[in-house]
Amino acid sequence: MKYLLNFVVIAWISVQAGPAAADIILVPDAIFDGTSSKLITNRAVLVSDGRIIQIANLDKLDQSKAQVILLPGQTLMPGLIDLHSHVLLHPYDETNWNDQVLKESWAERALRAGNHLKATLEAGYTTLRDLGSEGAGYVDVGVKQALQKGVIPGPRLIVAGKAIVATGSYGPKGFAEHVNVPLGAEPADASNLVTVTRDQIGHGADFIKVYADYRWGPNGEAMPTFSVSEIQTIVETARSSGRYTVAHASSPEAMRRAILGGVETIEHGTAGTPEIFQLMKDKGVAWCPTLAAGEAIAEYQGWRKGEGADPKRIIDQKSSFTAALKAGVTMCAGSDVGVFDHGDNAWELELMVEYGMKPGDVLKSATSINAGLLHMADQIGQVKIGMLAELIAVAGNPIEDISVLRKPTLVMQGDIIFNRN
Ligand SMILES: [Zn+2]
Repeated sequence: MKYLLNFVVIAWISVQAGPAAADIILVPDAIFDGTSSKLITNRAVLVSDGRIIQIANLDKLDQSKAQVILLPGQTLMPGLIDLHSHVLLHPYDETNWNDQVLKESWAERALRAGNHLKATLEAGYTTLRDLGSEGAGYVDVGVKQALQKGVIPGPRLIVAGKAIVATGSYGPKGFAEHVNVPLGAEPADASNLVTVTRDQIGHGADFIKVYADYRWGPNGEAMPTFSVSEIQTIVETARSSGRYTVAHASSPEAMRRAILGGVETIEHGTAGTPEIFQLMKDKGVAWCPTLAAGEAIAEYQGWRKGEGADPKRIIDQKSSFTAALKAGVTMCAGSDVGVFDHGDNAWELELMVEYGMKPGDVLKSATSINAGLLHMADQIGQVKIGMLAELIAVAGNPIEDISVLRKPTLVMQGDIIFNRN
């Protein structure tokens, strides 16, 4: 069965696949296919059983058994993908990270995640890579399983589980020596990295996240944690199980170690240098710059964008973004949403344009390039025959005005459709 739900009605129906599902034909003004900055016109898309099976002129498609959805003035495109989310966190100006980790029950955090995921899907994001439960054990794995069973609506979730940190490096911090607090990730070192990596995999991690640096320098600055060989150990252990590894790294030395250790993406990279981005390009490592989180944190610390000089964090992330573009690094779209409001993920895409990337390239990052980095290029991220029907429509042309992504007019996730038309 297919359901057409009006966006105005905030009600979801969990959908069971029915035996006599009707086909759906989407008729937009233009299509962004995920790989080309040139929009395609005069084409309609036929969806059957949750997959795209034909893309042709409307008069060439069999409309007799299909529900036709007209999308005048709109561009159809792949559902958006965010490669760096935290569905178990909410904005730090509501509740700081320490209090979320130490004072919120796992039940509260899971229920919040349900709200976050619904807002994210309605915002046009059909896949999230979630970068760690931040102290909530394997609640992310449980939330993912609930999504898969249709218990709650939301994007596809690809989860890291607990994530790995070096002993002594991670928070919450600042307690007396006799007080032991639970950490926001799982500590491990050379002697037990294989065990911890395998244990996280066994508990349902889809990939492994390692913190290659953290703010544990003598003055609270970001300093490297693991050695290259420690990171290699994690990467090889994960790879043996068919999983990849990604690294949190802000400082050049931690980025260098993570790249040489074999990770597939670097998260943040705020202080990356031209030499480091060249190394990433040479080794085929992609970068998730998380610009939106950087701007959100600067705002929480009192920055008013456009007023006065940019703080160091913003200066750094602008210059690193310029350097990465110049080096030709593969850019992923990953926002670190959770630091700021879930559903505002497209802020990252607006900032990527503002910081100098071509809008068409940003759209490719948020669709086909992100899909490739998830090892899912044959399933999602393109409007192409055979792909899953995870699609959105937006008013006008997103290459001319990226901000139209903020309010999709239609979101399709297989059998579930939100339609504002
Ligand atoms: Zn993060």
